[in-house]
Amino acid sequence: MPVLSVALDLPLHRLFDYLAESASTADIGLRVRVPFGRGERIGIIVDVASESEWPQEQLKAAGDILRDLPPLPADFFCLCEFASTYYQAALGEVLLQALPVGLKRLDPPDRRKARAVRKPDPVPPPALTEEQAGALAAIDLTAGFSVHLLHGVTGSGKTEVYLRLVEQALAAGQQALLLVPEINLTPQLETRVRARFPEAGVVSLHSELAEAARERNWRAAFAGEANIILGTRLSVFTPLPRLGLIVIDEEHDSSFKQQDGMRYSARDIGVFRAHQLGIPILLGSATPSLESWANAQTGRYGLLALRQRANPEARLPLVHILDTRKKALQEGVSPALVAAIQERLARREQSLVFLNRRGYAPVLACPACGWVSRCTRCAANMVLHLADRRLRCHHCGCEHRIPKSCPTCGNQDIHPFGRGTQRLETWLQAQFPAARVLRVDRDSVKSRKQWEAMLELIHTGQADILVGTQMLAKGHDFPRLTLVGALGADAALYAADWRAPERLFAQLMQVAGRAGRAELKGEVLIQTEYPDHPLFAALAAHDYPGFAARQLKEREEAGFPPYAFQAVLRAEAPEMANAIAFLKAAASLAVVSENENVMIYDPVPMKLARLANLERGQLLAESYSRPALQHFLPCWREAIESIKAPSKLRWHIEVDPLEF
Ligand code: ADP
Ligand code: ZN
Ligand code: ZN
Repeated sequence: MPVLSVALDLPLHRLFDYLAESASTADIGLRVRVPFGRGERIGIIVDVASESEWPQEQLKAAGDILRDLPPLPADFFCLCEFASTYYQAALGEVLLQALPVGLKRLDPPDRRKARAVRKPDPVPPPALTEEQAGALAAIDLTAGFSVHLLHGVTGSGKTEVYLRLVEQALAAGQQALLLVPEINLTPQLETRVRARFPEAGVVSLHSELAEAARERNWRAAFAGEANIILGTRLSVFTPLPRLGLIVIDEEHDSSFKQQDGMRYSARDIGVFRAHQLGIPILLGSATPSLESWANAQTGRYGLLALRQRANPEARLPLVHILDTRKKALQEGVSPALVAAIQERLARREQSLVFLNRRGYAPVLACPACGWVSRCTRCAANMVLHLADRRLRCHHCGCEHRIPKSCPTCGNQDIHPFGRGTQRLETWLQAQFPAARVLRVDRDSVKSRKQWEAMLELIHTGQADILVGTQMLAKGHDFPRLTLVGALGADAALYAADWRAPERLFAQLMQVAGRAGRAELKGEVLIQTEYPDHPLFAALAAHDYPGFAARQLKEREEAGFPPYAFQAVLRAEAPEMANAIAFLKAAASLAVVSENENVMIYDPVPMKLARLANLERGQLLAESYSRPALQHFLPCWREAIESIKAPSKLRWHIEVDPLEF
């Protein structure tokens, strides 16, 4: 009798065999109901064979094979197999995470047809700038696989380049996949794409869609009815029958990296997928990741540059570095910034004060006894949120009421220390009582709806001073915004995390890019106690290449990525000793022969050593050769699986980790 090899959504590196009377190889790629344990599950048929390595009498019979969808295609399996091998993730988990929730339900809900949306009137494209035309000319959609990095300053019209490429793909009868960061999936971009291609069938795929809508869009993409797929990281796995172009906007953005469950980089998967299909992929950013920049420098990726803003009236903003060492600051704001905001108010222009820390203050403390508001479950402080009168841990989400007096000594005079966006908002409002101050961070914007409402307020000029975190930094055009002030930048300059300067530079460059997008001239004031730091000099000169060159040199000297390849093994347990003992056992199982060039470091606690009552340790494996590391990891993972660990210990491997 035919035997089905079925992938199930389990963290196990194996398939499960079932008997199925009338199955044939034509059923590969279909979903199937199978008995598992005491219940039933939905799996994906990966193979149909005439026999199993298990004795037939031990095999159970499969349930119904589901035929509401055509089979998942071979290239989809190939993509998921690559991800599974590269990231040491179980194939079943990779395959099933790519499907919408409704397709994995045992009792699928009844889906109604979507109402037809009114098609917008098409918006004609602008004439290309010379630089845009040059970039476009360099990409040949008919020439097979290529990777290009489009490095364009903020406002240089990268989106227009994407849209023209999409247009070419559509004309050739192909589908285009446009990946955007979670936060950047703005109504703005979606509206722009729909307006340009009203007839094309545009679907979006992101986590804020309701389950039914997501499934509907996924089906339309898979069936080839939708031609443009606009999605966040997970959509890189969507099976698309006629895919001809992949674009990754803001390719440096960390939201392309999945940080839990199956840990993968959608950007890297995108490059693999383009290679596999023999199609072009375009990565765009004003501040590319140093990995991509290095690839462009060595010629592995083509480099395309847009150095000017697309709107001929718009200039890059003037960036001033404000030395705050000798200045008397008020609530962390320098007199020069206050004066600059005042000027904008007088001219009815908008200002943005950027502080990448939400809440009122990072900690509440008692000066009498030294008590600080620590989270009892994490190695972190509880952040003071005055707006809703809570102390809240930003790591585990746990919260308390604000104590009226010190919990240890009873002192009634306890103080907030440091500042976050709420405190800044309160102070700015007191300072400029007539101004409309609007705070934009994850506390004030919890849903896409609220986000759209905020953007509307800003666009229609119903806010004078914006206070915000990096939420405000990306991809928005605010025509009346002419001043950006940045506070609190110094912490990242000398951080232990060697990626911190890269992130800081990108953030400041992005947020600075909000100023002066239209005819009005923009100005950026950056407060720092290290005015001579080369990072700021590069920023003031809008010199990303200079900054990147210096960073890459430092990384090369230190042997950090992209000059080395890393994987990290993490373990979490109620006791740190258990986690470290497990990691030590894992290290001793690492078979590292001389010529493989893989280094195993000592186990150490993670930077956030305790999260939600679990102690966390990690162990770094590193190599100067990616193939060597890739060769080493599967054997090591299998060896680790054999360790008898305490029942409450959890572990995982992350390849190409961004955070430690
Ligand atoms: P980026 O994504 O590079 O930051 P955008 O694509 O958002 O830049 O473009 C910035 C602004 O320039 C937008 O308002 C856009 O409409 C405009 N723009 C883009 N290309 C052109 C062009 N060729 N001519 C005139 N305006 C353009
Ligand atoms: Zn006290
Ligand atoms: Zn916590």
